[in-house]
Amino acid sequence: MKLTNYHTHTFFSDGKTSPAECVAHAYRLGLNALGFSDHSPLPFENSFSLHEDRLPEYVAEIRRLQKENEGLMQIWLALEMDYIPGMSAPFAALKQQAGLDYVIGSVHLIGHSHQDNLWFTDGPDVAVYDEGLRRFYRGDIRRGVKAFYDQTNEMIQNETFDVIGHFDKIKMHNQGRYFSESDAWYRRLVLETLSLIREKGLIAEVNTRGIYKQRYNGLYPSGWLLHEMGKAGVPVIISSDAHHPSELTAEFDRAAETLMAAGYKSVMMFDNGQWIEQPLNDLKHR
Ligand SMILES: [Zn+2]
Ligand SMILES: [Zn+2]
Repeated sequence: MKLTNYHTHTFFSDGKTSPAECVAHAYRLGLNALGFSDHSPLPFENSFSLHEDRLPEYVAEIRRLQKENEGLMQIWLALEMDYIPGMSAPFAALKQQAGLDYVIGSVHLIGHSHQDNLWFTDGPDVAVYDEGLRRFYRGDIRRGVKAFYDQTNEMIQNETFDVIGHFDKIKMHNQGRYFSESDAWYRRLVLETLSLIREKGLIAEVNTRGIYKQRYNGLYPSGWLLHEMGKAGVPVIISSDAHHPSELTAEFDRAAETLMAAGYKSVMMFDNGQWIEQPLNDLKHR
């Protein structure tokens, strides 16, 4: 199968290198397609998202690389858009403004309206997760997790986008401390979100970052959930959420094997404005 990664960060947001360095390494790895998806601008100071003033430069650089590599490697321009009610810009407007090829929609910050109200669940620091859970939800994990899935559901219902990013990532810093993924209340929440994903016709990414960063020993979404997604017919892509060129295809073999075990026969590929199916085969030939 063709080797693709559609979730890549560069130094335009919180990635470590230039887009050109990513492309150079993608050739070494034998990638057929590389999509750039830096974090969309947000209306407050932070250390991870693309600054609005640099959006035109980001767009121009990815388009330049796309042209330069035409016929050799497919390069695509995207953003990973954060959904924060009352704060984030409408996805469709930003997509049009920047002329993007596709959009990944993700929830990293839970809350609304003001930066001081946001529970940051996605960073490297477990202490930040724990502190936010105490501060915003009085340590009640069920309320905290429900807020994450509610905000995700709202994004699915209110916004237009192609791929839903790491949609069960709220489990990352749980590490078996607060809840089990087999708890009935947790499964209900996730499966409700899954049915919205299916209704909306979204692609779900299978994100390997937890494994190679050693923050969570498994994929986002988890294996049991991939089985449910397979039964529901939700299309998927395998992505690394790379923040460094060396991570571009990290743990793709494990993702492909897990997907096959879950009954998947194909993954999606972006081709000039359209997502098309391609057969899912063993990637081990690399
Ligand atoms: Zn993300
Ligand atoms: Zn990302």
